[in-house]
Amino acid sequence: MTLRSRFTLFTVFWLIFILILYNIFVYFFVIRVTTRGELQLLSNKANLVIESLRKQGLRGFEDPKLLSEMYNYNEMMRIVTGDVRVVNEVGTDPELLSIPPQMQVYNQTETRQINGQRVLYLSVPFFDQGHLIGTVEAARRLTVLDSYLQILLGALSVTSIGAIVFAIFGTYWFTSRLTGPIGQMVQTMREIDRSGKLYRVKLNGREESVELQQMVRAFNQMIDRLDRTIEHQKHFVADASHELKTPLTVISSYADMLKRWGRDNAEVRDEAIEAISKETERLQNLIRSMLTLAEAEQDNWLNVSRFDVTSVVRELSEVLGKTFEREIRVHSDHHSVNMKGDKDKIRQLLLILIDNAIKYSKEPIDVRIRNQKSGIKLEVTDYGIGVPDSEIPYMFDRFYRVDEARHRKTGGSGLGLSIAKKIIDIHEGNVEVYSKPGNGTTISIMLPRKI
Ligand code: ATP
Ligand code: MG
Repeated sequence: MTLRSRFTLFTVFWLIFILILYNIFVYFFVIRVTTRGELQLLSNKANLVIESLRKQGLRGFEDPKLLSEMYNYNEMMRIVTGDVRVVNEVGTDPELLSIPPQMQVYNQTETRQINGQRVLYLSVPFFDQGHLIGTVEAARRLTVLDSYLQILLGALSVTSIGAIVFAIFGTYWFTSRLTGPIGQMVQTMREIDRSGKLYRVKLNGREESVELQQMVRAFNQMIDRLDRTIEHQKHFVADASHELKTPLTVISSYADMLKRWGRDNAEVRDEAIEAISKETERLQNLIRSMLTLAEAEQDNWLNVSRFDVTSVVRELSEVLGKTFEREIRVHSDHHSVNMKGDKDKIRQLLLILIDNAIKYSKEPIDVRIRNQKSGIKLEVTDYGIGVPDSEIPYMFDRFYRVDEARHRKTGGSGLGLSIAKKIIDIHEGNVEVYSKPGNGTTISIMLPRKI
């Protein structure tokens, strides 16, 4: 069932329920109020008759004037005395006259049904020094009242049906407006599914509800994000193939050279073998970095544990220092600094930063660990070539190298810092770069104590 039909049905049933309750209340309230009025009228008449009787000294019950002055069309009045004998009576309605007379010591009022019509019946006793003398009885047909009630019933029905019809059309129209953008979104999704292209949902700028505006906005944000991701991937594939092409071209041209002159010329052979081996190594590094980056894109990438950052830094610095024969100084204000995170990834992050420091400087390198209130700060400082201010924002981009010509010598793929950035992001940390060309570079990373 559509949202629109459900909403309309719900509103209509709810309205019908409320109207039924309301009509029942109004109907019975009107009956009660009007019947009470009629009863009051009848009881006044009976009391007047009794008063007149008292004035006459409780004699002359048969006096026709007693009742005829009070008599009204549609009514019956009589005086009953002694052994339940009707001594005086007025009225023309045989049905009212056929009501059996009664003698009782208490007032009685009731509404009776005679031939399907309501009749109000009243009996008031009168006494002489505590002895029951007789009763005055009165009855009245409620025909006029009933016809008014019929009119009321008709009016209530007509207004209720009108309200329901209005409610059906109103709700239908309103929900159509409400669900319009949803339909539009579904259509856009189908269009995306069919064509494989990403489309945004356009808001008509009408007075759409806040929730719907939020939904459309969230949908469009998702589309934008997907769009950016796809665009990013396209760029990555283009960049990666470009990066792979260069070493492959070098390898293939040296292989050609080997084929032609390699057999006779030892010098050419050695040069070609050397170049091919170097380019193959570069290719291997490049592919390794690309795989790491691809792996980093996956969500469940973290393997969280508690570990001591200083020991990781010390161990890594020692290994790299020995391998590259460079001095790497570790400074820490605490003997051990514990954090919760992925130990291997943090090690990889430090390796990328120290590797850059080694590649782009000749002086000793400083690594600092600071245990701060807001988290753990790791700083890698070198005193090498530095990076111009204008290049700093792009350093973390994929395949980005500040100096293309220089990179052939150092052999970097330009992926190191983009992997580092991923590791920092996934640990919810942040990074800052301070650098001056010719003076050196400091890369400062702030990591939360736990994630
Ligand atoms: P890879 O690390 O993938 O082998 P790479 O070192 O060239 O290659 P990144 O680590 O991403 O790539 O660094 C990007 C660029 O930023 C480098 O090419 C270099 O130009 C510049 N850069 C990074 N660190 C430093 C540094 N400490 N000093 C000077 N320049 C740096
Ligand atoms: Mg690097």
